Amino acid sequence: MTHDRPSKNEDEYFARRDAELLRQHRESARRSAAAIERKTHYMKCPKCGYDLITGDWDGVQIEQCTNCHGIWCDADEVKAILKRPTPTNNILARIFRAVAKGVTRS
Ligand SMILES: [Zn+2]
Repeated sequence: MTHDRPSKNEDEYFARRDAELLRQHRESARRSAAAIERKTHYMKCPKCGYDLITGDWDGVQIEQCTNCHGIWCDADEVKAILKRPTPTNNILARIFRAVAKGVTRS
């Protein structure tokens, strides 16, 4: 058996395979890092970083910051507010009064 140098085609094959494996490894590491970072931001205020608490406002769950008192609604929560049979300014007025007073857990 001879130990000739692999052909150019073999070199190219292994170089492409190694590059693909490296690309897959980097993508997996990037996804893992993003998932870990996302977990550290869960239920944290995007403005100041303090904890968010969830309050029930006439059956609508709305998050509020325990520090800056900002409120956060996702699309489903906004849709729920807009579908309320009572005028939407009632629930919004209650929310904004609570924001002005500060966070309550009631
Ligand atoms: Zn905040």
